[in-house]
This record gives sequence, structure tokens and C-alpha cells, in this order.
Amino acid sequence: MDTASASSIVTDSAAASSAFGGGIRVKNGTLNIGANGEKHLPIWQKYKKAGKKAGCVTTVTITHATPAGFCVNSSKRNAEPHIAEMYADLELDVLLGGGDEFFNPAKREDKKDLYSVYRQKGYQILKTQTDLKEIKKGEKLLGIFSTGALPYSIDRNSLPELKNTPTLTEMANTAINQMKDHPAGFVLQVEAGKVDWSAHANDVAALIHDQLAFDEAVKTVMDFAEKDGNTLVIITTDHGNANPGTIYGTDATKNFNSISDYKYTNEYILNNIHKEYSAKEIKDWIYEGNKIILNDDEAKHLLSFYNGLEKGEEGLYNYKKLPFKLYSEIQKSRNSVGWISMDHSGDYVEVAAYGPGNELLKPFVKNTDLHDLMLKVCTL
Ligand SMILES: [Zn+2]
Repeated sequence: MDTASASSIVTDSAAASSAFGGGIRVKNGTLNIGANGEKHLPIWQKYKKAGKKAGCVTTVTITHATPAGFCVNSSKRNAEPHIAEMYADLELDVLLGGGDEFFNPAKREDKKDLYSVYRQKGYQILKTQTDLKEIKKGEKLLGIFSTGALPYSIDRNSLPELKNTPTLTEMANTAINQMKDHPAGFVLQVEAGKVDWSAHANDVAALIHDQLAFDEAVKTVMDFAEKDGNTLVIITTDHGNANPGTIYGTDATKNFNSISDYKYTNEYILNNIHKEYSAKEIKDWIYEGNKIILNDDEAKHLLSFYNGLEKGEEGLYNYKKLPFKLYSEIQKSRNSVGWISMDHSGDYVEVAAYGPGNELLKPFVKNTDLHDLMLKVCTL
């Protein structure tokens, strides 16, 4: 699939989701708004009008570009507090992900209590993994399990304090169960959003573990679709990102396998370093997190970021300006994985489809073709 947007051969997630969601290529940064301000009706609204249930599940904020592109029109992808309000008006059936700051009156700038707005509309509100066991059949669901995105899978697996957040599989399973008995059927978007974020951070262990979590979610969806026999499953990505590659060398296999010793994300490791750290303390901590033995120069170089002598990368996904790039280069010298950048690529990507209607998928498509396919398969 060709993933370009209206403004670039390299799309962002807002334009990418709008291609699927609105059937039209828009400029990066916008959600289903055309060049002259025209609004293209998002696909989940088309399905709702046709009487189907519609939901979104993601490991990032539920108001983030990828779910939003199937649901709303917005000239700015980062209008997340407003997008949270628009979802309530649309009465989407299942919304599961992160982003408490866009619903919670104590965290919203305008102090609006969106949880009570949703409650008044008949939604059951979920906050923890435990809540998934208490679901009332037939009710609409709003599950917001974290401030910001949900934790990375590798951190969730290593840190007890993160255990009470659901996995992508648990959320997908909940969403399917809640909507599958609807007589007119349902549509569901399941996004492994933190695969993208880990690529932005050049964090190979985070990426592998979240890709595995996605794989597990695919199994849950496929198990349902195989049994149901009347559900089309489309598996794809909206764009490439940072292109990690294993680089040739005599020890490449052994080096690559060393990633299985990594316990935490680079974000967690780098966030826990303080400027008061001695070279020995930083060495001990990196060994604890990655089983990597830093040399003196590497320890000094890393510490220089915390003493304000050097600055980390700026960017949408690195607001604390952590030295992600330097750290991934240190890791590369041990694990043989390199990256071309810290941002999206214009690569063609894979698309797979299973179930009735999969014959509509041509061998090579534009991202907007998937919009038409998803409508055609339901004769909308
Ligand atoms: Zn991205």
C-alpha cells in the first residue's frame, strides 16, 4: 500500500487515518478536512448511520490521530480535549485507551467533567484492568486506563505498578464481546499505537514487545473472525517509521539476541537518571536495565545531557528531551540494530485481509482504496 498524504509522500498519522477514514488524502496534521476546508464524513459515522455499532481500541490516547481519523473532522490533530467531546456526541459504542487528561475535570483546562457527560449518555466508565471483569452487557463503554498513552508492554511486564492496565488483547476482546451480538453488526479499529512511539524513540526492545502484543491481539481478532465466518479483518499499518535494521557483522545473531535481556524501555531507563548520578551509578543502572556495560566515555556523554551540557531531541513524542538518539547508538554498538531516522518513512507497507470481501483487496493499493473497500464490503 502507498501511504502518501496530500502534502507529502511521508504521511503523519492524522492524514494516514483520514485516508482510511474519510477516503480522501488530506494535509498532514489534519483529520478529514480537505484543501478548501470541506469536511469528509468519517467512516465510523457512516457505519453508525447504517445502524452498526462502532468502536476504537488503542494503546495511546483514545483521542489520538488514528482513532480520531475514523470518527471526527478536525483541522488540528492535537485538539484532543475537543475530540473527546465530539466522541460523546457521536455516541460511539466502545472507546478503550488512554488520555485521562482529556476527560477528567481536574486535568482539563475548561474543568468540564466529560466522564459525567458520558455517564449521562448511558456509558459504563472503566478505569482499570479489573473493571474489564465487571462489564454490563449491552452498555456503551468508555475505558480510560491512563493519563497519556498506556504503558509500553515491556514496562508493563517488568513494573508491578503498571500491571492493572489492560493489554491490547484484553481491550480488543472486550470490544468484540460487547458489540458482536448486535443484529446489524459492528466495526472496530484496534491500534497498537506504541509500536509507532517506540520507533520514534529508536527503542528496539519496546518496539519488539509492543509488536508481539499486537500479534497477540491479531490472534484474538482472528479467532473471533474464524468462528464467526461473517467478519472481514484487515491488518495493516498506516506508514513506516524509522526503519530499524539488523546490521551485518560476525556477532550479529548473538548481539541481536542480547535484546531479550532488556528489562525496560529506554524512556523508563533515561527518565530515571538524575544529574546527581556518578559515573558508577549510571553504569549500574544501565546494567540493571539492559545488561550493557558502559565505558567511561559513554557514561560521561550520557550524563552530559542531565547536566544541561547537551540537549536531547525535541519532538512530538519526546517532550522531556531525553537523549534517545545517543542511547540507541550506544545500544547499537551492542545489539547491531541501526535506525535511519526518528520519524515516519514513505515506504510501501503490507496489507492483509481475511474473511468475506477479502477478494476486493487488489495486489497494490493506495491508502484511500481501503476506505472504499470497507464500505463496499458492507454494501454502503
Ligand atoms: Zn508516528
